[in-house]
Amino acid sequence: MYSRSFESSQNLHESQSVMATILQNLPKECSLTKIEYEGPRIALHTNKPQFLLENNKILSNIVGQIKKRIVLRIDESIRIDEGEVQKVAEKYVPQESNITDILFDPALGEATIFVKKISEIIKDEKIINNIILESGWKISFKKTPKNMVTIKNINKIIRNVSDYRIQFYKRIGEKIFREKLDPNIEANLNSLGGFAEIGRSSMILSTNESNVLLDCGMNLYTKDPLSKFPRFDSTGIKPSEIDAVLLTHAHFDHTGFLPMLFKYGYNGPVYCTEPTAYLMYILYREYIKHYGSEAHYTDTEFEKIFSHLISLNYNIVTDVAPDIKVTLYNAGHIIGSSSFHLHIGNGDHNFVYTGDIKFGKSSYLENAVWNFPRVETLLIEGTNGGREDSYMSREDAEEKLVELLNKVINNQKLVLMPAQLVGTSQELLITLDMLIKQKKIKKCKLYIEKLVTEINSIHEFNLEFLNRELQQSIISNDYNPFRSKNIASITDINTQKLDSGIIIYPSSTLNCSSSVDYLKRISNDPGNLIIFTSKPPGMTIGKEIIDGQRKISLNDEDLELKCAIETIYSFNSHSDFNQLNAYISRLRPKLRKIFVNHGERSKVQNFSGYSTKVHNISTQYLQNQEAIKLL
Ligand SMILES: [Zn+2]
Repeated sequence: MYSRSFESSQNLHESQSVMATILQNLPKECSLTKIEYEGPRIALHTNKPQFLLENNKILSNIVGQIKKRIVLRIDESIRIDEGEVQKVAEKYVPQESNITDILFDPALGEATIFVKKISEIIKDEKIINNIILESGWKISFKKTPKNMVTIKNINKIIRNVSDYRIQFYKRIGEKIFREKLDPNIEANLNSLGGFAEIGRSSMILSTNESNVLLDCGMNLYTKDPLSKFPRFDSTGIKPSEIDAVLLTHAHFDHTGFLPMLFKYGYNGPVYCTEPTAYLMYILYREYIKHYGSEAHYTDTEFEKIFSHLISLNYNIVTDVAPDIKVTLYNAGHIIGSSSFHLHIGNGDHNFVYTGDIKFGKSSYLENAVWNFPRVETLLIEGTNGGREDSYMSREDAEEKLVELLNKVINNQKLVLMPAQLVGTSQELLITLDMLIKQKKIKKCKLYIEKLVTEINSIHEFNLEFLNRELQQSIISNDYNPFRSKNIASITDINTQKLDSGIIIYPSSTLNCSSSVDYLKRISNDPGNLIIFTSKPPGMTIGKEIIDGQRKISLNDEDLELKCAIETIYSFNSHSDFNQLNAYISRLRPKLRKIFVNHGERSKVQNFSGYSTKVHNISTQYLQNQEAIKLL
């Protein structure tokens, strides 16, 4: 550990050279009032933003020189009152765009204007700039989603801690931009959870300067603490000694333990994409609702995460520690999901952690990114690492789906499709709505729960994370599957009258408390059909049914399934065996070593052996509580 005085004298040195470069490159007209650290960025505050808005090349030139992220901030002294912003915005926003809400983040001086129609605003940069200049708030526009509740709740949380956040960003910035203590570099990867298993993904990347935690999941399918939580005990690293937490995506097996990390002393930054943050909020809330007094944390405890959040966009290099830079790339798994490219030391080692990836066709996301600038070590997920996990092509799968659905829908019956709440639910909803639109299946109702509508809303206002085609079609108001007229709400599965249609049920395992009600509604009629689109893990009702069990016991009720059961796994949000191999083939020339995680032992074992042989790169699956030397 270093002493306080050493730290501040080194900081002075670092800040002097960076600040000198910035000042040399900024003409007087910029009218700077303050330069300070803001988390992983350097914030330039001005009371005359016009010059830099009109000459934005000046800032990109400086970024090119100092290789640090810069953000333009408008001095608080020229900001108008929040209540006045609406009037200013209405002067410049076309009436047909229809402003519905404006949310403020006073700590950063940012305002988000929600509009029903966004196409005209995107076309005209002047609209944003005029509002910025007249209001003194840094403006961005978002399309108003159907449900604003989560967005407003998170805004309320961060507003309540504005003063804390201003200090927090400074504290984190000073830590990140301090001088390195040791010119040499060593790096280890400690596996804490989700290795040779699925359910509690977590690992620590440790160097002689810093500890960065990658994912922080919890396994919901066991009560044993030794299998439920990441094994922090095996590293000797205390939560307070972790410098940064990076989250690949919102699924609970990658984020569920994070509130406990805060509970036990972590108070550093949490980096993830914006959709990940919003989805996490909903998933924590639902976890507490579901587990009640058995939940491991409360609302107030998980809300602490959001005052420590630093959202990142794809493809932007960000310093998260003095010797580690991260770039997030689209992973194609769910909205906002990322693969991490971690640049360790001064180009000494490049490590890619894929997170959960989909390297294949999706109805709403782009394919996972594979063209990283440099990669020596790859850690890839192996959920579908068994040879039996090769699924039919997406085209064939759609054909099979159409055939199965038409039989049932033409007979006025019901289809139940268990799906992950976040990911497969959206994939299916969009695919099914498209199939109806293309008249491949007869017009019918697509039933979803209110919770799925809420998750859909996070997609609707984070359009930049959807694939280009869908993004364009929603922006231009040509077609928005999240507002399709075919969608109908499930309000009460026990009593509600249902027309013939398809129920997208947001639990792929069928282990939820409401599963029994849905199964009761479907199972008695041989004309009805259940289609599984992913293989649920062991010890779940879904797995029992797929394995052929037709008499099941759920919530103390016995049920006989008389309906038809089918599986089509190609709509899965994970890559299948072939897609995992195709991904490695693309990366192959650059790789030295591959590790595999996130998959049952037999799958990661099989995949490691296959990859070593076929790709001719040493591939190894790790277990939990191992330490691997990267550098
Ligand atoms: Zn996932």
